[in-house]
Amino acid sequence: MCGGQVSVDIECVVVGAGVVGLAVARALARAGREVILVEAGEGIGVGISSRNSEVIHAGIYYPSGSLKAQLCVEGRQRLYAFCDERGVDYRRIGKLIVATDERQRHALQALLEQGRRNGVDDLQWLDAGQARALEPALSCVAALWSPSTGIVDSHALMLALQADAEACGTSIVFHTPLEWARCTGHGFELHMGGAQPMTLSCRQLINCAGLSAPEVANRIEGLPAQHVPKAWLCKGSYFSFSGPAPFRHLVYPAPESAGLGVHMTLDLGGQARFGPDIEWVEHVDYRVDSRRSEGFYQAIRRYWPALPDDSLQPAYSGIRPKISGPSEPAADFIISGPDVHSVPGLVNLFGIESPGLTSCLALAERVVQRLILV
Ligand SMILES: Cc1cc2nc3c(=O)[nH]c(=O)nc-3n(C[C@H](O)[C@H](O)[C@H](O)COP(=O)(O)OP(=O)(O)OC[C@H]3O[C@@H](n4cnc5c(N)ncnc54)[C@H](O)[C@@H]3O)c2cc1C
Repeated sequence: MCGGQVSVDIECVVVGAGVVGLAVARALARAGREVILVEAGEGIGVGISSRNSEVIHAGIYYPSGSLKAQLCVEGRQRLYAFCDERGVDYRRIGKLIVATDERQRHALQALLEQGRRNGVDDLQWLDAGQARALEPALSCVAALWSPSTGIVDSHALMLALQADAEACGTSIVFHTPLEWARCTGHGFELHMGGAQPMTLSCRQLINCAGLSAPEVANRIEGLPAQHVPKAWLCKGSYFSFSGPAPFRHLVYPAPESAGLGVHMTLDLGGQARFGPDIEWVEHVDYRVDSRRSEGFYQAIRRYWPALPDDSLQPAYSGIRPKISGPSEPAADFIISGPDVHSVPGLVNLFGIESPGLTSCLALAERVVQRLILV
């Protein structure tokens, strides 16, 4: 005990029990490290890991050689294998990306080439007739068929990661926000808030705080500020569709600037939902404004003209943890380790937006490599 506070000395502390923090804690524990995972909220997956499309992405969209491209392709393969091994519910349902006019046909052609460069070798070009043979309600001039895209039960995935991490000795503590930290030269002194404030000392610190990752990094004394990107919040709202699902596969439009476009996903129960749209915001507020449905009807009717009036209901929203602003090109994932900032034992993960769920196991492997090799 130290000044009435609990004081604990540990090898590794992971901050944030979303899908990425859980995967990182599991990977470190499996590599033989002693790990505490600290989470500000009341349970696992209270952040963006529970507020997404639950799609296992193939890896098509991202610039060649980027971390997003590499970790999505590798992460997808690891994720399917993990789900098989651990009985996590998923379906390799396949997805169509559709061009609804001639201009988009060129965008789709570029996407096909980009996907192939990224190692997504099962993409097929479909003409309008072939696409409609798969999905009769679809309106398009051409489509890309991605058979290796799937959907996953993200909560079951996080529970399986948690179970593995705990089986390897990881302790997970909830209601325990990291308030600030100090580099001591041989590790970190961490000051935890919550009902029972604690001081932890550790040799390795991994910041997987999602939307708060830049804020958490800014509170680490000894980490130069130039290694912390500015955080941008980009909200995406979803609307559920009241009738039977119009499509059997996922349907995406040709992608937009900050997201993949308002797409139709199915949950594992077969219920259709549409989203996410794009709204740059200043604060985290997950309420869905029903007035945004107007933009949804317009976007969806480009590829599904038969969408009935008054059939969409506000469902939920997520917020993308962007590190590039509205007028900038999309940033890559950042795994900022000692090789970048020269603080031994520290890894910050920044900008882990989509395809972060798909990539979680591959991201975790990279973090372990950084900490073990440096
Ligand atoms: C709208 C939307 C749709 C998406 N769709 C997909 C998709 O279909 N497929 C895909 O692969 N990816 C998708 N993603 C991306 C994916 O959801 C994220 O990349 C992933 O969930 C990030 O997980 P995380 O663990 O980094 O963050 P989070 O799940 O947010 O976890 C961070 C955790 O850190 C905790 N925390 C914060 N501050 C502190 C602190 N000071 N101390 C302790 N704990 C703290 C938070 O409470 C939270 O639990 C989507 C994202 C969005 C926003």
